[in-house]
Amino acid sequence: MDDHKDFAERDEIIEETIRKYGEYVNPGLANLMRFAGFGDVEATALRATVTDMSGSQYIDCLGGYGVFSLGHRNAEVVAAVHEQLDCMPLSSKIFFNKPLADLCELLAEITPGRLQYSFICNSGTEAIEGALKAARMFTKKTDFICATGGFHGKSMGSLSATGREIYKTPFEPLIPGFTHVPFGDAKAVEDYITNDTAAVIVEPIQGEGGIIIPPDDYLPRLRQICTERGILLIADEVQTGLGRTGRMFAVEHWGVEPDIMTLAKALGGGVMPIGAFIGTPEIWEAVFGENPLMHTSTFGGNPLACRAAMAAIHVTRFKDLPSQAARLGEYFMEGLREVKNKYPKAIAEVRGLGLLIGVEFAHEDVGELVIGGMARRGVIAAYTLNNPKVIRFEPPLIIREDEIDTAVCVFDEAVGEALEMVEGLV
Ligand SMILES: *Cc1c(COP(=O)(O)O)cnc(C)c1O
Repeated sequence: MDDHKDFAERDEIIEETIRKYGEYVNPGLANLMRFAGFGDVEATALRATVTDMSGSQYIDCLGGYGVFSLGHRNAEVVAAVHEQLDCMPLSSKIFFNKPLADLCELLAEITPGRLQYSFICNSGTEAIEGALKAARMFTKKTDFICATGGFHGKSMGSLSATGREIYKTPFEPLIPGFTHVPFGDAKAVEDYITNDTAAVIVEPIQGEGGIIIPPDDYLPRLRQICTERGILLIADEVQTGLGRTGRMFAVEHWGVEPDIMTLAKALGGGVMPIGAFIGTPEIWEAVFGENPLMHTSTFGGNPLACRAAMAAIHVTRFKDLPSQAARLGEYFMEGLREVKNKYPKAIAEVRGLGLLIGVEFAHEDVGELVIGGMARRGVIAAYTLNNPKVIRFEPPLIIREDEIDTAVCVFDEAVGEALEMVEGLV
């Protein structure tokens, strides 16, 4: 009897939540989510598993677009945040803030080369905004070269750097001076550098662009060109950072040291929102030398988020999650490639580095159906924002092999089912 009452209550909460999305959040998004197969309300999550209000469990192969590298509710991160919550969650901004100082020291230690100073903010797009401002101040130049298909966020500055028109056109005029050239083509970057160019900004591996790994000489060439021409190299590691690709930072695959690096997503350990841009002493001198308040953020550097980030970095290093990502990424891709061999016409490519994996379909409709089919079978995936033909697998780096096996098996079934549904179309 009680069960019946609980079920009724539960269904009502689900219905009400979806209705409120329609009335107060975003009606189109509500439809999109239901159409994609996510018509329930999330309730709890732990490790690589998300549970909805109906009690269905899902293996999280999206991982919050890279947020949940440590999985959901990592115990060490949660404990650090609890401890900080009980003494001082937000900074007075008047006294020195120890968690901020400790985190910035730690970031200097783990980031490559001469990156030493950090500005802590609250999201990826804020980190990019700060990086762009720093590059302008340091070089006293205005322009940027970025990559087609690149994703750097959706506030006005980072949107100017983002390389997909549909998200930009409605907001024009954006910030002038941003030129987009094909990703992976260092020669094109060189050709478009002018006397006004301040920096080149790229993701080491394009995430939203469709999980695109550049040729091996790309980043080293960019480093060389930027040094020769006296401009800055900004590496946007918001999605690739902190072990995701099998190295602590993706630039390490090519031994490249950027002048500015941006981080966010996984930096908060899957518990707190946080972003950062990290630069060299000269850049900091140029930005903050005359006015230490030149760039500020009210919530940026708050002790709660800084403690989460420190714990996240600690867990990542202590458990050697970059190596684990490299090993499990190979394992995952092996499974996905077997499925590709079964459906060679439908699946164009399986590619990735570490646990940043993309599966490219010949037709984007198939990808959409596959995502829905996987959701119904208990696996969460999504397509890449700037390339709907590609679905991404970005699970927590702590995912187990048997969970990967299940995800591959479910993927196989969902592709088979999707192909039956579109037969005649394809
Ligand atoms: C997600 C992302 C951003 C933007 O981060 P937000 O926190 O959503 O503003 C920027 N760059 C890259 C590479 C990203 O993947």
